[in-house]
Amino acid sequence: MSPMIDNAPLPAVDETSQPFWDGTALGELRVQRCAACGTRRFPPRPMCPACQSLDVEWEAMSGRATVWSFIVPHPPLLPAFMPVAPYNVIVVALDEDPALRMVGNLIADADASINSVDPATITIGEAVRVVFQPAGEEIVLPRWVRA
Ligand SMILES: [Zn+2]
Repeated sequence: MSPMIDNAPLPAVDETSQPFWDGTALGELRVQRCAACGTRRFPPRPMCPACQSLDVEWEAMSGRATVWSFIVPHPPLLPAFMPVAPYNVIVVALDEDPALRMVGNLIADADASINSVDPATITIGEAVRVVFQPAGEEIVLPRWVRA
């Protein structure tokens, strides 16, 4: 089964988030870092929440993280996701800075579908690492596998 989900809604890419998506296309997990005070932030946004600077740099993370939380979405689901239910949605905390959290899916391997891991086996705190999955012509999504 292809990991692609037909007609799934995809993230909207804008000027602020473009460098993140440029990174995933290259196999890099990037977060913003304030060029004034050094505070990292995710998701991408124009202004530093710590010092209000608009000066931003991008930093590639290791892609190592731990499961911070997870859910199993229940109906009603968007029609695109009905064929792959039940599946998991996880929130991970990045190793470099556990305050940086990303939402994704835990999958069995880089080519697997979002329903390839039994949600009953997921444990809060387990180690994961990022993989990158094309999800359409333009977008490569970060997803997660067990480390
Ligand atoms: Zn700052």
